[in-house]
Amino acid sequence: MKVVKTFTFDSSHLLDGHDGKCKNLHGHTYKLEVEVSGSLHMDGPKEGMVIDFSDLKAVVKEQVVDKMDHAFLYNRLNERECAIANLLEGWNLKTYPLEQRTTAEVMSRHIFQLLQEKGLPVTRVRLWETPNSYSEYDEYDG
Ligand SMILES: [Zn+2]
Repeated sequence: MKVVKTFTFDSSHLLDGHDGKCKNLHGHTYKLEVEVSGSLHMDGPKEGMVIDFSDLKAVVKEQVVDKMDHAFLYNRLNERECAIANLLEGWNLKTYPLEQRTTAEVMSRHIFQLLQEKGLPVTRVRLWETPNSYSEYDEYDG
């Protein structure tokens, strides 16, 4: 069985070296869908559930939303993006580093792996960058 919970957060980023408008600093209201799969608990307080929606919410909020919301997302291997992040951090403004360009593809994979490392039985992450564009990473990818 599968359950999905949806979250939203706002972040800024840029794609240094992009050949279009995404090279400029801009923001998105990201929509994040996290799918968790498993069999139903057969007894106890979670009987009939794959996972308690409130437990799912707590993990995703702590591990992803609270860290990325209203943050500048940047590629920590890119010199120019790091220079912006350093400036912001010097002013105590929120940043969040990734190991690659901050595309929806890289972010969806990063979020999947982060949640998996925290023990969540995540099977799919879908990250909407705009109302009509998303990237999806699932347990068969990678
Ligand atoms: Zn963008």
